[in-house]
Amino acid sequence: MKENEKDQVQTLKDALFSQSKHAAQRMDDAELAKCDAFCADYIGFMNTAKTEREATAFVTAALEKAGYVPFKPGMALKAGDKVYLNNRGKAVILATIGTAPIGEGVRLCAAHIDSPRLDLKQHPLYESDEIGFFKTHYYGGIKKYQWTAIPLSLHGVIIRKDGSKAEVRIGEDPADPVFYITDLLPHLATEQMKRTLAQGIKGEELNIVIGSMPFKSDKGSELVKLGLMNILHEKYGITEDDFLSAELEAVPAFPAREVGFDRSLIGAYGHDDRVCSYPAFRAALAVEAPVHTNVVILTDKEETGSDGNTGLCSSYLKYFLCDLAECFGENGRHVMSASQCLSADVNAGFDPTFSEVLERNNCAYLNHGVCVTKFTGARGKSGTSDASAEFVGTIRAVLDEAGVIWQTGELGKVDMGGGGTVAAYIANLDVDTIDIGVPVLSMHAPYELVAKTDVWAAYRAFEAFLKS
Ligand code: MN
Ligand code: MN
Repeated sequence: MKENEKDQVQTLKDALFSQSKHAAQRMDDAELAKCDAFCADYIGFMNTAKTEREATAFVTAALEKAGYVPFKPGMALKAGDKVYLNNRGKAVILATIGTAPIGEGVRLCAAHIDSPRLDLKQHPLYESDEIGFFKTHYYGGIKKYQWTAIPLSLHGVIIRKDGSKAEVRIGEDPADPVFYITDLLPHLATEQMKRTLAQGIKGEELNIVIGSMPFKSDKGSELVKLGLMNILHEKYGITEDDFLSAELEAVPAFPAREVGFDRSLIGAYGHDDRVCSYPAFRAALAVEAPVHTNVVILTDKEETGSDGNTGLCSSYLKYFLCDLAECFGENGRHVMSASQCLSADVNAGFDPTFSEVLERNNCAYLNHGVCVTKFTGARGKSGTSDASAEFVGTIRAVLDEAGVIWQTGELGKVDMGGGGTVAAYIANLDVDTIDIGVPVLSMHAPYELVAKTDVWAAYRAFEAFLKS
């Protein structure tokens, strides 16, 4: 091939082929600095808000500081007004009223703030052979063996017999004790090692060690349990029966941290899906005077299928949008039909160590931007809402116009497995909906990995969409 022919081929390739580049090669130093500062804030959020209740409290406090007021049906609203709705302390919806009539629809971002974890059972406390334990039932899809032999913290609430509430958060402060689930030593694991990976640790083996000191007495049995119950009574004012009306969640006690010599990655518990929730919430705060009314919903229960009154299979989002529409004398149904939604949830990033589960031409790569996912589902797209080509085109234009670094990717090879998000439930309200989110490695593990530039790209994407 002659030189000029080679040039011609390259020119044509540049013009016609898809291009993808590492985000750092597309960002200048000023933008990289902004990305770093944003991610430092994100790490702070991750260490403060480790559960749906703590995320709701964090976001609600920030909203009140930013001038958002509790939404009341029928209230008088005008462009620039800011309202929020706290759903039972576990989910939150915020809205900034736009200048366009609400009949033109809202710009909705939906992310979830629950993450896989271990919930305590309602009779959790027992003693066996002078060690005190809590029984658990895991929440969401986990590889159970990953949750042993790591420090755990305990978060949640206990409703006492008299109706009063004890808030629990123990194991995060370096001065706190942590909790622990044992695994078998390799020396004696010959039989255990024959189990499949799925059975390596069984659900009923996820028992949390919580202490080992007996109550000071020579008389009676279950003295370790008594000693522990006595501490819990002193600390939280509870008796054993109060666990019946408690929601206590054990989560990894690791703090979120930078990962790598170049500090380009972030390790944390629960990136799925606080890595989309936090940028969506920050984007909503940044867009003070939107054209279309902005609505951001941070929901609960995604990891168990979105059922229940704090999950998106319930009607709380629909009721909110209808009530909001009525404040302007509009029909909620018409508002929903005219609305657009980014279902902001993570996707699997390409992991070179486990490359066989993803298809290289159609998967998300770390540092290649926020990932737009046209469809999710499993076994022939079952359970997906599959965004229309027209709506993908609309979102593509919004992202490109704003210079957002983004890519597209699906969740794994065909028939490799699959999964879903809240996209289908929002699309079922007749809202144009598409999935978008940050690529994650080791998703649903106690410590997950994301790239900083992708977190920043997610923020930029949500901001551009909310402004559109
Ligand atoms: Mn998720
Ligand atoms: Mn998940």
